[in-house]
Amino acid sequence: WLYTPYNIERVEAGINNYLYDLTNMIMSTNTPTTTRANHHIALEDKHGAHNYHPLPVVLSEGKGCHVWDVDGKRYFDFLSAYSAVNQGHCHPRIIDVMVEQSRKLTLTSRAFHNDQLGEYEKYLTEYFKFDKVLPMNTGAEGVETAIKLCRKWGYDKKGIPANQARIIVCGQNFHGRTTTIISFSSDPDAKGSFGPYTPGFESVPYGDVAAMRAALANDPATIAGVMVEPIQGEAGVFVPEHGYLKAVATACREQNVLFIADEIQTGIGRTGALLRVCGDCSCGGHCERQAETYVRPDILILGKALSGGTYPVSAVLADDAIMEVIQPGQHGSTFGGNPVACAVAKEALEVIRDEKLTQNARELGHIFRDEMQKLVDTHPKLLTLVRGKGLLNALVINDSPESKTAWNFCLALASKGLLAKPTHGNIIRFAPPLVINKEQLLEACGIIAEVVREM
Ligand code: PLP
Repeated sequence: WLYTPYNIERVEAGINNYLYDLTNMIMSTNTPTTTRANHHIALEDKHGAHNYHPLPVVLSEGKGCHVWDVDGKRYFDFLSAYSAVNQGHCHPRIIDVMVEQSRKLTLTSRAFHNDQLGEYEKYLTEYFKFDKVLPMNTGAEGVETAIKLCRKWGYDKKGIPANQARIIVCGQNFHGRTTTIISFSSDPDAKGSFGPYTPGFESVPYGDVAAMRAALANDPATIAGVMVEPIQGEAGVFVPEHGYLKAVATACREQNVLFIADEIQTGIGRTGALLRVCGDCSCGGHCERQAETYVRPDILILGKALSGGTYPVSAVLADDAIMEVIQPGQHGSTFGGNPVACAVAKEALEVIRDEKLTQNARELGHIFRDEMQKLVDTHPKLLTLVRGKGLLNALVINDSPESKTAWNFCLALASKGLLAKPTHGNIIRFAPPLVINKEQLLEACGIIAEVVREM
């Protein structure tokens, strides 16, 4: 009975799985950590909270699209601090401005004016074409600010009865880690055991226009806003169908609901457009050609690359009719709008424009996905698909999200000099600094191909 085709198939599958696990085991031991690296890892392990699970690599230097570990080994950085280092590590222009401003004035608090804030606010609002900006520090603070602004607008302008404002969000979202933000997360790790949760949020499936329209039609008089990531980065680089953002924005307008775009990860050139909401155009959505695809959010949230990864700088942009609802004493932050942040952010945005990094992301993104598609086509047992926009891409590994395959893949990449990390189990995000050039990108693709072949 053993030799029925069914059983032979099962035995074969068992042997395959065994060989696969063995390969993975060998791969993981191929990334040796040195005494020096182990020293730093042990310190973190003993004295730091275990709220991250990093790869066993200890970095000490960075320049452009490269980082070096404590033993001098060079890597391509294909995570870019979750898209914060779009301008490349330690961009000399940004660092110079940072050092210069740090020698003059670092922090005054907003109890007084400073000579950098107004210049920065003018620059930023002209750059993104909004009337006003509210400066903050981290991305999560930017999101919190947008939520407060949206709710206040709901009460003051839309006339929502007190404490009844609702905001629609999307399933699988990632907007940060504060108590309110995790209240509307669908990730059990991010949310579980941190309740009680902040009420006033409703979730609909991402990319589903009909579900969004249905949610907006349900008691629209109490809905203040809809908050969306134009591409869901953390969830695994999910790109909604073309026209989704426009449809959501239109539905919002019909119901007098604010459309909030969280471009903390997707914005500032990353996806081959200055903002992802403006589709594939690099103009920031202000040219005629893309008028039909451009979606102008009512509230725009930026962070991460706003400082080129040198300093926590975030910003919430909106027009006067919305921003005017915030009055003195109602919102703020000790560090928000400090002189160093202002000087750094202005320079970081100039670098994006001067070095044409948005265009570079768009062009190299096509090359990267083409190269990865070749691997997907030739290795369907290991790879399911590649997806993304610009230089925000993901390879989906053909294994369950609980498997260790993507993790082992990343260990093997690291051993060959490329750093990337799985997001949600079997998905590997690839997001190099936008300063990477074609030659470097192809070299990196070669490393990925080598690992694919070996695995
Ligand atoms: N929003 C999005 C879309 C993000 O990707 C992130 C971080 O990854 C955040 C918000 C939170 O930013 P931060 O980690 O700076 O608080």
